[in-house]
Amino acid sequence: MKSVKALLPKSIKIKWKLTFWAALLILFLFLSYTFVQYVVIMKWVNNHERQTIQKNMEEIYAYLLEADSEQEILESKAYIDILNEHHQLIRIVSENNSVLFTITNKVPKNWVSSQSALKEELVEMSPKGDRLLVYRKPFEVTGFKGTIEIVRNLENFESLINQITTLVIITGLVAIILSFVGGRILSFQLLKPINSMIRTMKSIKENGLNKRVNIDKQHDEMTELGIMFNELMDNLETSFQQQQQFVEDASHELKTPLTIIHGHLSLINRWGKDNPQTLERSLNLSLNETNRLIRMVSELLTLSRGDFSTSTAVLEDIKIKGVVEDVVENFLTLNPDYNISSSIDISKDFTLKIFKNHLEQIIIILLDNAIKYSKNKKEIELKVKHSENSLAIEIKDYGVGIPEEDLPLVINRFYRVDKARSRKNGGNGLGLAIAKRLLEYYKGSIEIQSVYGEWTKVIINIPLRKDSDVLFRKK
Ligand code: ADP
Repeated sequence: MKSVKALLPKSIKIKWKLTFWAALLILFLFLSYTFVQYVVIMKWVNNHERQTIQKNMEEIYAYLLEADSEQEILESKAYIDILNEHHQLIRIVSENNSVLFTITNKVPKNWVSSQSALKEELVEMSPKGDRLLVYRKPFEVTGFKGTIEIVRNLENFESLINQITTLVIITGLVAIILSFVGGRILSFQLLKPINSMIRTMKSIKENGLNKRVNIDKQHDEMTELGIMFNELMDNLETSFQQQQQFVEDASHELKTPLTIIHGHLSLINRWGKDNPQTLERSLNLSLNETNRLIRMVSELLTLSRGDFSTSTAVLEDIKIKGVVEDVVENFLTLNPDYNISSSIDISKDFTLKIFKNHLEQIIIILLDNAIKYSKNKKEIELKVKHSENSLAIEIKDYGVGIPEEDLPLVINRFYRVDKARSRKNGGNGLGLAIAKRLLEYYKGSIEIQSVYGEWTKVIINIPLRKDSDVLFRKK
């Protein structure tokens, strides 16, 4: 046997599925209710008819028992006539099946043949299409022995049932239409947010990412879906804009060294072949630019990947003091004219769960900046301390400083306060962005304070985590 589901075409839209199921449910409920009502009414009417016929019989029986002869029974005809009801026949039949008298109200005598009974009986029959209830009860008085026979036409009952059936069919048809309309309204209400979402998605596909779904005032699961969708689109739009900005910035930054190299190569092409001085100068400058390019590309890679290739490796406890001291020592060897005074206020065994190369890279970026942007006073102060919750590293220099309006921006990719000076120092404006990205991995933060022309202080904070290293896994 085919199930109801199999009747639905496979590619049918949700709105029609919802309409169909809702209509089916409403119809089922209506029909079951009507059916129960029908059965109850039938039973009730049937009982009522039986009770009426029984009551009639009891009255006639009691009356006839008082008679003393056949003659008196005959005389009781007038009284029984009064007792008779519509659509009912009453007959007194003698023992030999001959009829003493008959009283009838719209029940033809020949429908049921007279019959004396030996014991009380109540039967239902339908000899000419009409349903009849026949009740026979034997009785005996002085001078007469016979049967009281009552035949009741259930025509009233029939017409009532017919009316109910017609009513059920008509209301059933109306119910089918109403349940279809109801199902349609229900599905429309339920699918309104989804349809709006589909329209928005279409519009996003055609016109770009800036469209959003309208959010209903009443809060339900669909509204939540809409809010989620809008948030997702916000994130997508932001990340798309960031990507676009990144590509624009990177192309712009890569173009400068490439233009310089192109210029020098043209120069060599035109004059340099015969002029060893031009040749050497241009080659050297081009080499410088290619070095810058190489560094920039590798920095860009670090930034985009976050250099988290080791992210699945288990973090180990790193002794911070040793790492900081090693980096400072390297810097002093490379920049002997600088004085880096370090106050490392943590014990030798103080450890932190961090990748050693990440910590080194962050300190190198900050010390490198401190040296690059120093003026005459080649003094750098480095402080390391820890509180209950975090480790703080502070690097202060007395160099060019950063103007107040540039402070919030220097952390952005490719942002340089003094482009010429920064380029001369080999800066691409990516160092602080890389440090920030690395710190984010450890849920750390970076803060820059400065007084323009006097000093710059960069403070980084890394939260201490005593629990599992899984917290540091790349998201
Ligand atoms: P860069 O490679 O250009 O140094 P950074 O991201 O490290 O890139 O720094 C961005 C800009 O912030 C620098 O170009 C510079 O103008 C400014 N800056 C960073 N550190 C300092 C500092 N210690 N003193 C003065 N200016 C700084």
